[in-house]
Amino acid sequence: MAKKQFKSESKRLLELMINSIYTHKEIFLRELISNASDAIDKLCYISLTDDKVGLTRDDFKITIEADKDKRTLTISDNGVGMTAEELESNLGVIARSGSLKFKKDMDETADENIDIIGQFGVGFYSAFMVAAKVTVISRAYGEENANKWVSSGADGYSIAACEKDKSGTDIIIEIKENADEEDYDKYLQEHTLHSIVKKYSDYVRWPIIMDVTESRQIETDEVDKDGNKKKEWEDYTETETINSRIPIWQRAKSEVSDEDCAEFYKEKFFDQTDPVAVLRVSAEGLVSYNAMLFIPGVAPYDYFTREFKAGLQLYSSGIMIMEHCGDLLPEHFRFVRGVVDSQDFSLNISREMLQHDRQLKVIRTNIEKRVKAELKKLMENDIVKYETFYKAFGIQLKYGLANGFGMNRDLLADLLMFYSSKSEKLIPISEYISGMPEDQKYIYYASGENITILEKLPQAEQIREKGYEIFYLTDEIDEFVIRSLGKFEEKDFRSVVDGDLELESDEDKKEIEKQETDNKELLDFVRDSLDGKVAAVKLSQKLKSHPVCLAAQGEISLEMERYFKTMQKHQEGGGGMFGEMKAERVLELNANHPSFNALKESFESDKDKTKKYAQLLYGQALLTAGVPLEDPSEFSELVSTLLFE
Ligand code: ADP
Repeated sequence: MAKKQFKSESKRLLELMINSIYTHKEIFLRELISNASDAIDKLCYISLTDDKVGLTRDDFKITIEADKDKRTLTISDNGVGMTAEELESNLGVIARSGSLKFKKDMDETADENIDIIGQFGVGFYSAFMVAAKVTVISRAYGEENANKWVSSGADGYSIAACEKDKSGTDIIIEIKENADEEDYDKYLQEHTLHSIVKKYSDYVRWPIIMDVTESRQIETDEVDKDGNKKKEWEDYTETETINSRIPIWQRAKSEVSDEDCAEFYKEKFFDQTDPVAVLRVSAEGLVSYNAMLFIPGVAPYDYFTREFKAGLQLYSSGIMIMEHCGDLLPEHFRFVRGVVDSQDFSLNISREMLQHDRQLKVIRTNIEKRVKAELKKLMENDIVKYETFYKAFGIQLKYGLANGFGMNRDLLADLLMFYSSKSEKLIPISEYISGMPEDQKYIYYASGENITILEKLPQAEQIREKGYEIFYLTDEIDEFVIRSLGKFEEKDFRSVVDGDLELESDEDKKEIEKQETDNKELLDFVRDSLDGKVAAVKLSQKLKSHPVCLAAQGEISLEMERYFKTMQKHQEGGGGMFGEMKAERVLELNANHPSFNALKESFESDKDKTKKYAQLLYGQALLTAGVPLEDPSEFSELVSTLLFE
């Protein structure tokens, strides 16, 4: 029989499939199953008004059968089938917009970008990713005759009449021989087929039937020493429906327990820990969809790496069309896992189409609102669970706030928590504010390497003595978060190392100013002794028992300097945009401390010693601030000289 030629654009798509280096070849099964499901939908619809169909809803099914000897995989349905003309027009030509678009995109992008196959409904032709030959036997509903379409690839196809006793379609795929770089045998193995169906087509509403091997214990004729018949394991084959059919997210809330949801989550997203919250969304309107979302309690091991793929699974009427749809989640909530199912999306959805899809934006905005509300609720009603969440993903919220330059401020601010000096645990900012004494004007914070350093920070003493609470910030990003926040409930934030904490009375301030004028020469001498390491030396208004502390003036704090330094280290070759970010250091001395008298006295008699004192005090200031000494051995020598000489 003469071979017919594929139309040129079909041929191109077919060649792409045949030579595909795409790693997820398995999606061919998803495509064929969804075609079968559509065909059943059509006949089921006809049967509503046409008694002659002779089938009820329960009779419809999709069957998968593998024959290892013949190397064939057969996908059969008892749906509406195709006439000879339909076989010709549906399978011989690309008539569909989705495939045409696919071809266009493939022309525009280089072949190495073949990964986009996974984003398209590439349809029937995807069978050629795994097939040496494809035979389609189909009988259209209402026709007596069946037809057989056969193709071994790009050289064409043939159509001939054949026998088939009922309407429907059998797709018989002759699986390619194993190649060095590709294992095709697996598409004949029961467990592979089973898991592909589970992965992509678990929620197809028609039953997907397959012979499954099970084991059972049977009695043998042999008898053991107690006279009992010995048992042995036996494999047997059972025809089973392998898909779950009704997705958990489409079941009524009353039918699904929290445990069911948690189990589903753990199995689907490979987590061993229960999620801290499950959200169910059922929306109708501009776009209708169901979603089941999970807020995990632990971060996946690769969460903070480039490997982590954020996004929700996107389903179209129970068929998975995208495994990680990033467009459904805002970046700051990228920890959320879950599924969105909407019949408003077709299988032929491309990444490009998705990016511009208004429907996706509507869903994303709604999901953002719901996740925010859920987290807020958790914070208010179950702080222990919220803390679990926050320890895993709090940093993500902080990045969301700092990276957006305050854009997401209103959304994220009240979800933040910081470590409180009073409660000695993480608390929300609103809790800090409600605990503020009446005379307290600011929200105080101290940032540094760890809580131990911060608890002993000389500058914090005075604030704590006044009974004020301090937020101890230990994440590098924290200072940026505070800056992005600006205010919270009309209260400004103030770092305890800030020059003026506005804690003193005007008289106290005047007194210090006077002392500064009186000691100007000494203070300038101390500054000059430090060889440009500090921009100024001042008398402190905030030190109580400590001799000295380090502060910063200008825009960049010491913490920010530390952060920039880390960033710079991460940048290849150093330098870069963070190269010049250095805090302007200020050394604050405690005029009421014996060290200041020593300074004064030596300044009268031994300037060389004053210089050493100045360097010692600067070193002490660095150490208490948690800033590494520039030259530790020099410092150690200095201490010895002063003590023992
Ligand atoms: P799509 O399903 O996206 O339209 P395909 O290339 O997968 O594209 O299929 C092309 C057409 O062939 C389908 O639209 C359908 O009309 C027909 N078809 C494919 N498989 C079957 C089937 N199992 N039963 C009936 N018709 C089918």
